Amino acid sequence: MSNEILNTLLKEYEQKKLKAEMDLGKRKADLYFKFPELQRIEDELNRLSFETAKNLLNKKGSLADFEKKVEELKYKKACILHDANIPSNYLKPYYSCTMCNDTGYVTNKDYKTEMCSCLKQKLLDISFNKSNMSNLDKENFDTFNENLFADDVDVSKYKFNISPRTNMLNIKQKCIEFVDNFDNPEYKNLLFTGNTGLRKDFYVKLYCKRIIKKRKNCTLSNCYCIT
Ligand SMILES: [Zn+2]
Repeated sequence: MSNEILNTLLKEYEQKKLKAEMDLGKRKADLYFKFPELQRIEDELNRLSFETAKNLLNKKGSLADFEKKVEELKYKKACILHDANIPSNYLKPYYSCTMCNDTGYVTNKDYKTEMCSCLKQKLLDISFNKSNMSNLDKENFDTFNENLFADDVDVSKYKFNISPRTNMLNIKQKCIEFVDNFDNPEYKNLLFTGNTGLRKDFYVKLYCKRIIKKRKNCTLSNCYCIT
């Protein structure tokens, strides 16, 4: 995945975030026009924050007093919204993703910044569209039909001492195990090799579909190169 694609996506995120915040500005302006008391409360909250910061720097007043006044003002604000049947989130930006607030990144439990699942999914969708992984709705583990493969063992014909059906079921099982261990760095990669027409691409599609279903970030471009 090129940086260009990521940068384009991040610009879209920035636009989305900006739009959500501008929409909030409009909602606020309309609401404060109808309920001037809300504007007064907000002004008072801003004044209190500024004054408290100044007082604390000059070692005057207490944080507890500030917190008490803020709580009172917030309560008044909540009452006005409640009486007007306005949802409590009306005065917050409506982001498309509430996990990353349309930034594309989140802080994990170790306080490290990582890509949000929404951005990972977008990158995956782009990779998928750029690959030749079509027909995944028709070709996946759910539609796999083992009965299409012969059940007789014929070493001279199939070069195996197991039937083609058993062979295919073994490969299917390996694909499932691969996907289920996708996050396990100890688990070995899969390599599909063989002549054309052996349905290598079909198996790649099977496990890609399963990975997509599990919303993992599959490197689909690698899948593409072996079909
Ligand atoms: Zn997100």
